[in-house]
Amino acid sequence: MNAFADLHLHTQFSDGTFSPEELVNRARSVGLTAIALTDHDTMEGCVRTAIACREAAIEFIPGSELTAEQDGEEIHILGYLMDAENPKLQAELVKFQTIRQNRIHEIVQKLNAKKIPITAEAVLAIANCQAPGRPHVARALVKAGHCATMDEAFERFLKKHRPAWVPKFKMSAEQAINLIHQAGGVAIMAHPGLNRSDDVIPSMLEAGLDGIECFHSKHSAGMTEHYLQMAKEGNVLVTGGSDCHGLSKGRPLIGTVRLDYTHVERLKERAEQYKAAPLGSGSS
Ligand code: AMP
Ligand code: FE
Ligand code: FE
Ligand code: ZN
Repeated sequence: MNAFADLHLHTQFSDGTFSPEELVNRARSVGLTAIALTDHDTMEGCVRTAIACREAAIEFIPGSELTAEQDGEEIHILGYLMDAENPKLQAELVKFQTIRQNRIHEIVQKLNAKKIPITAEAVLAIANCQAPGRPHVARALVKAGHCATMDEAFERFLKKHRPAWVPKFKMSAEQAINLIHQAGGVAIMAHPGLNRSDDVIPSMLEAGLDGIECFHSKHSAGMTEHYLQMAKEGNVLVTGGSDCHGLSKGRPLIGTVRLDYTHVERLKERAEQYKAAPLGSGSS
């Protein structure tokens, strides 16, 4: 029997709407063998997700989606199988979370300047997590009746070049890759098809990127083929995931991308290699 995984999922611990338990229930109902949690800039949800997975007999891969930057472009780097207790990783994640929390105040100030009377407290109450982001602002705008949909909130206010846009501090892609490696994890470029260009990929491979998320719910068949070819040429790992953030147009994305389990085995082998001979520890 073929086994499948979804290695890109969010919960309420970042900007997803499912609790870990709800996510795992959905994973079971769509017949997944393994799932990874990749909340933005946090691993807090991993403990509960791991427990729920154990009860559901689903294999759990801990992870996080780190925000990074390469050549002025925002890049998301998926880290898998890091040691969540790694001190440097923990310190960097706390730094990111503080920046995210402060950014909510800045976004709200910009909205207030546009005569939209929402408060940071209201947004942070909706977020109710350490890694709040623009989707939480969008939900607050919808809840208060200032926008009809989250898409409208992004289009009118929250997107780049819109009135309430506030950039996030980002580490370089190389720093993110090193941070993941020194915590014993594997670094994968998330949804490359959503970036404007592939120009950033060679230098990331040079910096030690372990693989490319070829399968993603927003990749066309052509994009998937293109990145599979690139991964093959670069001799790097292939991963995939739905990037489910909860219900999307009334339906959950979890399980819509079904990664063949052999790729999960490759991913785990790579992490084992790093744990046996840590990278980024200054020994080479
Ligand atoms: P942030 O991390 O605060 O910059 O917010 C980025 C997140 O916003 C992404 O990870 C997506 O989950 C979400 N996002 C981006 N565009 C939209 C949109 N049009 N509607 C809903 N969510 C969006
Ligand atoms: Fe997100
Ligand atoms: Fe992303
Ligand atoms: Zn994501």
